Amino acid sequence: MNSIIVPEKELNEECGIIGIKSLNKKQLAHDVYFGLFALQHRGQQSAGIAVTYEKSKVYYFKKMGLVNDVFDEDLLNQFPTGDCAIGHVRYSTSDSNNVVNAQPVVFYGRFGRMAISHNGSIINCDSLKSALMRKGYVFQSSIDCEVIATLININSENGLIEGVKRACEQLEGAFSFVIMADGKLIAVRDRYGLKPLVIGKRGDDVVVASESCAIDTLNGEVMRDVKPGEIVVIDEHNNITSEFLPGVKKNFCVFEYVYLARSDSEMDGRYVYDMRYDCGKYLAQLFKIDADVVAGVPDSAVVAARGYAEESGLPLVDALSKNRYVGRTFIQPSQSVREKGVRIKLNAIRNNIKGKRVILVDDSIVRGTTSNKIIKLLRESGAKEVHMLIASPIVKFPCYFGVDIDSKEKLIGWDKNEEQIGKIIGADSLHYLPLEYLIKACNGKKCDYCAACFDGKYPTDVDKFNCGKFLFDI
Ligand code: SF4
Repeated sequence: MNSIIVPEKELNEECGIIGIKSLNKKQLAHDVYFGLFALQHRGQQSAGIAVTYEKSKVYYFKKMGLVNDVFDEDLLNQFPTGDCAIGHVRYSTSDSNNVVNAQPVVFYGRFGRMAISHNGSIINCDSLKSALMRKGYVFQSSIDCEVIATLININSENGLIEGVKRACEQLEGAFSFVIMADGKLIAVRDRYGLKPLVIGKRGDDVVVASESCAIDTLNGEVMRDVKPGEIVVIDEHNNITSEFLPGVKKNFCVFEYVYLARSDSEMDGRYVYDMRYDCGKYLAQLFKIDADVVAGVPDSAVVAARGYAEESGLPLVDALSKNRYVGRTFIQPSQSVREKGVRIKLNAIRNNIKGKRVILVDDSIVRGTTSNKIIKLLRESGAKEVHMLIASPIVKFPCYFGVDIDSKEKLIGWDKNEEQIGKIIGADSLHYLPLEYLIKACNGKKCDYCAACFDGKYPTDVDKFNCGKFLFDI
């Protein structure tokens, strides 16, 4: 068996969130822990849990590290029983990487202690924060969440829900929140629905989470997605009501299906697994390649490889084995640290590829460094040819909504075509799935999705917000 050190992945999601509202006091910290564990793929830098007990008292703990490292049985047992709890796992894309920026954010406000967990990126947050600072408000961290908490507090003179609504109306960009305050659990999704958020039940408990896999983990039943622009309120008696932010314009992040979400999650009525399988199937229909075997890059591209193999009739093999016991690579957000940092080891399974013409399927190519190393590894391990198929289009534009596709210049595809990229990564051939097929695999209409990192069509005027102009007068 040949081996090489390669980076694990080039993309990271910003955060995973969960909230549980119970009718009775119970040990919710353990439940949140298991939910966060299911959402670990969405963020590996920090983890935190907050539990409400005795009306508006909140007990919380957050620290840098993986869920499993941050919490142990003793620590979880120190949490009081409560009827509401929220949790958070974080990967930072733009903020500094220290515990001050870990979530949930817990603060004192008009309704006693409140806690917020956030997934996404508010693109006018700096403008809002500057305006608030000029008015005398102070902040201790660089995360969007603190600004949101302040806005909720300012706007709550007519009640908490009104405050949440008025605060969210001032935010532009991507956000899914769970908020714990005044005996209630509140879940909010931005008006584009960019970030996923689902609601489910477990007996009398109501659970809200970034992905359905977290609700499954708790033996709950998924009810539905929180809709774009929806504010869901779960009150003291677990009655569920909702209202909507103005200007709803659905634009769900298509990259959630491509790579970010877990294959066993269901989003918008579509299983991520099925979508990825269909992407592989479409690749087989579009690109008939003279080859001996098909393999997927673990983990997220293995399903698409299966779709390709079953549609084409070629045998599916494991070409790469991933060492699951090496720590995560990209817990550090900067490129320089990434390149120097701890790397995940992938081994080639020589017997499966020696002397063979291999079709290698991956979900995406962002910077290109990973693909280059993997192809080199396969060749050194005896593959005669390596043809690369990508189950999404060329990534050409940055993401401003919480996924660290940060600048055009770092993207291998921003100014290159398939042939040029194929040469750079050392593939015998390279093909990408066209955008219309990606959308078809999602079972939706193009207008339902943000695919801006592929086509540059952002759901909002990002240039306007990047110029730091004020949208709202606060
Ligand atoms: S730009 Fe890409 S990664 Fe960002 S929200 Fe849109 S589809 Fe998702």
